[in-house]
Amino acid sequence: MNKGKVIVVSGPSGVGKGTVVKELIGSNEDCALSVSATTRSPREGETHGVNYFFITKEEFTQKINNNEMLEYAEYCSNFYGTPKDYVLKSVEQGKNIILEIEVQGALNVKKIIPEAVTVFVMPPSLQELEDRLRGRGTETDEVVKQRLETAIDEIKQAPQYDYIVVNNTVMQCVADIVSIIIAERQKTENMLDFIKGVLNDENA
Ligand code: 5GP
Repeated sequence: MNKGKVIVVSGPSGVGKGTVVKELIGSNEDCALSVSATTRSPREGETHGVNYFFITKEEFTQKINNNEMLEYAEYCSNFYGTPKDYVLKSVEQGKNIILEIEVQGALNVKKIIPEAVTVFVMPPSLQELEDRLRGRGTETDEVVKQRLETAIDEIKQAPQYDYIVVNNTVMQCVADIVSIIIAERQKTENMLDFIKGVLNDENA
């Protein structure tokens, strides 16, 4: 069986990447989400083990020391990290694993796993991004301002990603990411075992 792909999805806060990723996973059974660990407090409606593993700073540090994190980063005064085991095992089992992480972590993953595919989700405009951030209503003015400034810094790093998609509508954005995954999986380097199998008559 072919290995799955690590697909890293980033984008500024408020761009709607959470919704895009949820839809992507809901509609593609060969895709699964990596649940990150974080030291930030849960927002209303968030569940431990589903949205994040909400842990203390001490627990987070321990996981780093035990080499349990594929990558981690500090973002807006909180720590976020990707548990390594789940990602590596799932990819071995042929699943495409989606990491919804910020820029610093994404670039680190690309260094550690060069065959990972990085995708940056752009807003149609900065105004639209601000509207979406305010519309969410979960953040104070100060936090919105801080996140917008961070967003601009993040967008400046978008050219370092393998692919850029624009979230005009969720469905279009998901369709774009699905086509990226299909194209990546069909790359010759990923099909060599299949070719060998055909020649040895093992794929029948
Ligand atoms: P939020 O607090 O809005 O859920 O997430 C803040 C930022 O942290 C988002 O850009 C999100 O993609 C990123 N993030 C979530 N999990 C991880 C992770 O495991 N590693 C890294 N590097 N960033 C993460």
